[in-house]
Amino acid sequence: MIIAVDGPAASGKGTLARRLAAHYGLNYLDTGSLYRAVGVAVERSGASPSNTDAALAAARGLEIEDFDDDQLRADGAGEAASIIAADPQVREIMLDFQRRIASSPPGAVLDGRDIGTVVCPDAEVKLFVTADIEVRARRRHAELCAAGVKPSLETVLDDLRRRDERDAGRAVAPLKPAADAYLLDTTKLDIEAAFQAAVEYIDGKI
Ligand code: C5P
Repeated sequence: MIIAVDGPAASGKGTLARRLAAHYGLNYLDTGSLYRAVGVAVERSGASPSNTDAALAAARGLEIEDFDDDQLRADGAGEAASIIAADPQVREIMLDFQRRIASSPPGAVLDGRDIGTVVCPDAEVKLFVTADIEVRARRRHAELCAAGVKPSLETVLDDLRRRDERDAGRAVAPLKPAADAYLLDTTKLDIEAAFQAAVEYIDGKI
């Protein structure tokens, strides 16, 4: 079984996807970490994330160890990831790897932006997780503060807004719900309630 979990930044999709993978005994792939790893590699090479040649070289040279890097979770990595992710050739390179994980037994939960629309359009289950941007900003702000980074709420809100616009506005594989996705709005749900709602939907579907 393949479960596609898409949605904007800080919607809670990563936590939900991880819990669903554990619950159904499936592999889990955070596809954002692929784009983040390319973004970090480009920045480390001293190039700009908008430099297509540098992004392509970094994508082609990606090693499994690159995903195990604390820097991937930093906000700057999300921003760099979103810039390189708009490049169709970079996305093409990422496609094979994601599909290989998805098709390996016993199946997988993948979270990202284009899993239900492009990477796994035949996934048995597609969820699109969203929440009001103010709520997402407050959640991300609390996470960053707990990690010792103390940006203003305004900065976090601006970053999310910019990233949402770039991800939803790009020409290739934009952030959008698949036509057959189940929309899960977590604005008023904590993670437990979101997980229960997702399980109820999935159990009814499979
Ligand atoms: O999910 P996360 O915030 O870690 O993703 C970082 C960035 O990677 C996103 O803002 C998006 O631009 C890109 N991404 C993507 N397609 C995916 C997953 C992530 O374009 N499937």
